[in-house]
Amino acid sequence: MTDEVQAIVDSELLVLLRRCVARPQTIEEKALGSFVSTYTAPKSDMGALAHLKDLLNSVGCMNTRDDVCVALGKSLYSKTCTLFSVYDGPEEKHTNHWRFHISNGTLFLPDLAYYKGSVVGGKHHYISYKSALEATGILLGYAGLGEFADYEAEYAVHIESGYDDDTKVYTGKELENAYSAINWSALWGAYGLDDAEWKHMRFVVDAPSWLRHVNHMMRTYTVDQWRTLFRAVHIVCFFSLLPAKYRKELEDVNEALYGLHDSEMGGDMRLLGLVKQAMALELSRAYKRVVESPTFRNEIREFVESIQRSAMRRIADLTWMKSATKSTAIEKLQKLHLGVLYPVQAFDYVSPKLGENSLENIIEAGRANSKMSLRRVRKKLTSQIWDNPVFMVNAFYLATGNRFVLPAAIVREPFYSRNNSIGANYGALGCVIGHEIIHAFDENGKEYDAHGNLRNWWTPTDNRTFNRQTRALEKLYNKDRLLGRHIDGSQTLSENIADLGGMAIALDALKVQLELQKASTDVRKRELREFFVAYATSWREKARREKQQVNLVVDVHSPAKYRVNNIVRHFQEWYDAFDVRESDDLYLDPRERITIF
Ligand SMILES: [Zn+2]
Repeated sequence: MTDEVQAIVDSELLVLLRRCVARPQTIEEKALGSFVSTYTAPKSDMGALAHLKDLLNSVGCMNTRDDVCVALGKSLYSKTCTLFSVYDGPEEKHTNHWRFHISNGTLFLPDLAYYKGSVVGGKHHYISYKSALEATGILLGYAGLGEFADYEAEYAVHIESGYDDDTKVYTGKELENAYSAINWSALWGAYGLDDAEWKHMRFVVDAPSWLRHVNHMMRTYTVDQWRTLFRAVHIVCFFSLLPAKYRKELEDVNEALYGLHDSEMGGDMRLLGLVKQAMALELSRAYKRVVESPTFRNEIREFVESIQRSAMRRIADLTWMKSATKSTAIEKLQKLHLGVLYPVQAFDYVSPKLGENSLENIIEAGRANSKMSLRRVRKKLTSQIWDNPVFMVNAFYLATGNRFVLPAAIVREPFYSRNNSIGANYGALGCVIGHEIIHAFDENGKEYDAHGNLRNWWTPTDNRTFNRQTRALEKLYNKDRLLGRHIDGSQTLSENIADLGGMAIALDALKVQLELQKASTDVRKRELREFFVAYATSWREKARREKQQVNLVVDVHSPAKYRVNNIVRHFQEWYDAFDVRESDDLYLDPRERITIF
């Protein structure tokens, strides 16, 4: 249902954008209006094309490795680098330290399996991607750019392994020693940090093994190879802004991958997609003004707190967890930062200097974002900021900092409404909230303490019990198939833990409400049915076969069908509400039912 609700929110966002063009009221709305006007102006794609040609041409001025590092710094600053990116945020072990993070690289194709050809159709996608790059490059005046696909194929394995890395913190000087082939002075200089400043800063490297590989590339790639890489990256970043003839090849690759042709997506949706990507902060703030309501915010906060309380009770009652682990788990729930509907405190905003064409505007929007990052790092921010978009129909748990975020866009019908029964509200939005809260104790979340610092607080016995229980859940999901492929119980484990525990605490919260209302047996049964029906409905979807296939490889969530069928069958309340018998398909022997939280 998230897609359906997002479609409704998107239509509101388009109305909002039109108003930003006609009557902008705030500085963010002005920036949005001007971004939209430039994009929708006649021949704007020709402007983007000319700008891209300039960019591709300027790559020719790169003659030394130092020039390469300057170019890297500039592309990091404009947020158009795929080798790594720089963002600001708290340090994992000390969340009160605000740092620059150097992140893992990204790939055009969904993941390594597509470059290796180890997934059905993978090789075919890889070959079409390579020839699309080559053809687009030739149209733009540069032959040989298809080679970039081979570079990616070579380094994809290092990107993949970087996901498992532990982050590492370096001073500027240590960074220089550890990755010595990179000219960091040139790189940070182009980013806006002089030697006196960056050498005394601390940096978090999210994927050290990947950065080691970039360092290796710096040592071994020729300047010509770097030119190919930069030109291809520019094309990959900006092809969607170009006239149809230049877009077509790469769009076809995406269509074959995800099953959606760009021509099916109206011009409005392309525009909105772009705004969401480049101007997320502005759009988020403008949307906040549309949905702002302190009364509603309080109502939802209470709803969230009712589930938070039931999580605390459940942890307190767990028979498998010892009291030493329990007390930190409960403290973690007490200290959970709740972000409800929209951020109340805003951080310094830097408006982008928008220009003549949409490509320039995307670069400028990236630069404005980096300027804000720089300010926050220089200010030594100590508390976390809300930077998840308010317009997203989703919810989040951020392990670093122990933070829960519920954007306004998801808190609406049919997820939540004053007209819904309480059973339906807890079954839909309640389970979303429960899911995010349980992420605090999933495979990854459990490694962080009550302050959201990375620190082991589990007793060895509790840790072992946790692992034994989660293995059972992994096995259960491994049995299921979709489109001829097995569900990966290990890849989806954290999400499955969150689904299972999330339903348990949302259901408990509903039962407390029913108790308070002194509900009769009939009412109780009706509300429980509404709970499960609303939960199942919240996962209904229409998905393209191609998209489902990609998701089976890359998505950490189970397919929607199993997020329902594999969860409800662990709850006696579900058996009671629908009189489920042993002969029914989803019936699970009570001994096989799993309760972790
Ligand atoms: Zn999740």
